[in-house]
Order: sequence, then C-alpha cells, then structure tokens
Amino acid sequence: MLRVWRRLLGLNDRTVLEDVEFDQDDEVVVAHVRPKSRWTRRCGRCGRRCPRHDKGHGRRRWRGLDLGTIKVFLEADAPRVKCRRHGVTVAQVPWARHGARQTRALEDTVAWLATHCSKTAVTALLRITWRTVGSIITRVVAEIDSEVDRFDGLRRIGIDEISYKRGHRYITVVVCHDTGRLVWAGKGRDKATVRRFFDALGEQRSAQITHVSADAADWIAAVVAERCPDAVLCADPFHVVAWATDALDEVRRAAWNEARGAVTQRTAPRAKGMARGLKHARYALWKNPENLTEKQREKLAWVAKTDPRLHRAYLLKEGLRFAFVLKGQAGKDALDRWISWARRCRIPAFVDLQRRIVKHRAAIDAALEHGLSQGLIESCNTKIRVLTRVAYGFKSHEALIALAMLTLGGYRPDLPHQQAAR
Ligand SMILES: [Zn+2]
Repeated sequence: MLRVWRRLLGLNDRTVLEDVEFDQDDEVVVAHVRPKSRWTRRCGRCGRRCPRHDKGHGRRRWRGLDLGTIKVFLEADAPRVKCRRHGVTVAQVPWARHGARQTRALEDTVAWLATHCSKTAVTALLRITWRTVGSIITRVVAEIDSEVDRFDGLRRIGIDEISYKRGHRYITVVVCHDTGRLVWAGKGRDKATVRRFFDALGEQRSAQITHVSADAADWIAAVVAERCPDAVLCADPFHVVAWATDALDEVRRAAWNEARGAVTQRTAPRAKGMARGLKHARYALWKNPENLTEKQREKLAWVAKTDPRLHRAYLLKEGLRFAFVLKGQAGKDALDRWISWARRCRIPAFVDLQRRIVKHRAAIDAALEHGLSQGLIESCNTKIRVLTRVAYGFKSHEALIALAMLTLGGYRPDLPHQQAAR
C-alpha cells in the first residue's frame, strides 16, 4: 500500500515514506517521511555533507499537492547541521526547497500557474495567500537564476524604468532586443542601479554589448558611457513618441479647461458640448490612425473642425511617430522637416518638445539608423506594467521582480508531471 502512496504523493527516490495517516480533526492527509541516509545531514543552502548540530525545532510539516479536495502534508524531523560555509542551518530535505513550507511539487505548480492564470485563480484553486505566492516564486526564480545564464550572447539591450506602488517606487529593467526577454531587473532608478546590472554582467560581457537603447535619462547614459563606452546609445522611439503624446495631452487639457471655463461663465450650450467632446476625444487623439474605430475617426474629424489648434497638435504627434515608421535616412529627413515645423507651430508644448528632441538628436538618429526591434521591448514593458498591478499585495519588490522574471525571462518551471516524464 505504501508503494501506491509513494506514487500518489509524487515522492522522489531520495525520500523514504514511513507511514500515512488521515487526520480526522483537520481533515488532512499526513505522510510521515524522511530522507534516505545518503541525503541526510546536508546543508540546506549548499547541499554539502556536514556534521549534525541539533534536532532543530522538532517535527515540521510541508504542504504538498492536494489529493482531490483533501489537503496533504509531509511531516518529518527538521534537524540542523553545521556547515563550514553557512554555519548552523536546517538540513536539506529532498522534497522541498530550503526555507519553504510547501513541497517542491506544490511550489513548481504555483510558479507555473502564476505565469498563466489570474491572481484569483491561483489563490482560490490552491488555497494559498497571494503573499505566499510571492515568496514561493521568489524562491523558484532564485533557483532558476543559479542554474541558467540569462546573459548568454547578450549584444543589444534596452534599459528602462518602471514605477510600482502608485508611482512612488521604481525598478530598472533590462531587456534583450534580440529575444525580447527580460534579462535583469533591480530596485531603484539611479546610476547605482544601472551599475549593479553591469556588475552582474561582468566586465568581459559588458564589452560585448553593441547597442543600448534607453529613454533620454542622463543616469543611464552616464553609466553606459562608463561601463561599455563602445556601445551605441540609442533613444527608445516609443519614449520619444510618448513625449509627443504627453505634449498633445497638455494641449487637449488646456483646450478642455478653456471650454469648461466658458461653460461656467456663460453656460453656453455650445461650450458645454465642446468641453464634453474634448474630454472624450482623448483616445481618438492618442491612438495610431490605423487603429482608430469608426467612432474615433468621427471624433477626430470633429476636433479638426472645432479646434484647429488641437488638431495641429495631433498632426505634430503623428508626424513624429511617422519618422520612426520610416527609419533610416528617410526617417532622419522626416525628423528634420518635423523639427522646423514644430519650431514654428506656436504651440508651447510642441516648441518645448522640439527643443528636447534637438538636444537628444544623436541618440534619436542612432535609433533611426539601427532600427532596433522596438516592438519586442515595448510589449515587454507593457507586460511588466501589467504585472506591477498584479503584484500589488506582494510583501516585497523581490516578489514583483520574481514574477516579472518568471513570466518574461524565458525560463519557467515545468509542472511536476512534466518533470516526471523527463
Ligand atoms: Zn552550506
């Protein structure tokens, strides 16, 4: 019978199953286990054989995969050993990661689900809290990091900052232009953070980086110049276009406020309709023309008729975007024309934007010349932004970073049955 139980519980060949009992009070299955003698007295952190220290805190339980609707726990002694490198630590067990309160099979399942399902699906199905999910994936990703080389063959990278916790905190992310994978993420947005990435990358591999794309942040440019001086620094086109979208929004808000002011002063129905129309024109103005719905197209035509200045601002945004669609020399020529147009446009937000673009012209030209696959980076960034909202409720930024690495880093754990099939 114990043989069937071994299979049901998915125990590996390093584990001895002593007994299985059904706990009537808690309605849970408790399996009493121990490591085979070859796998006892190993340091929980490095796995090295070491002398036994004491019996620790006695028996411990690890939650495993459910059997149907019944919760399952593995129970075993948790003695401590004295490692030469790590001091006194709880001994390694073959069924769970160090410091975990769940079995490896359950943790891998959590990690797999967290990258495929919603937060509610994971927590309700597995009956664990979102915080626990956070600490599980942090552990799983730490293990993946120790086994794989995320920097292998890294040549062209994008560096960006992403805000989390309602914009008060930031992480800096590094994405590979060739694979679209997230290769590094760290807390903070300053020179020290970017240096931490290059430290992890190492001197030799930093020297192999050929292109770095970033928004025009000086703190990124300064460290790139210091750590990989031969790399071409390119502006991220989607950041530049985002500047234009911001400028356009400033013009739209000003027009809206003006119309609303007219509403309160004269309660003129025309001004009122105008204010409402402008408020709702936001998405029509933001979207790329080819993605507009019929209704948004009409809205845009209405803007052209009622507020020529706002419409001009819209055309300026689109003109800038078009330079990046063209790329190469044609893109640079288009940008020259755009700059002289924006300089004379008499819309302060776009005159300022034009100055900013002239200031960063070298990096923008580099982006036009090298045509880095912006789509990959942009979609990766968009996904990270979604994850920052999903990760809300994790205790630490490490869990957010782990979720991002797990989902976008290209390495995910297999489900337990897939591992067994290998
Ligand atoms: Zn050790």
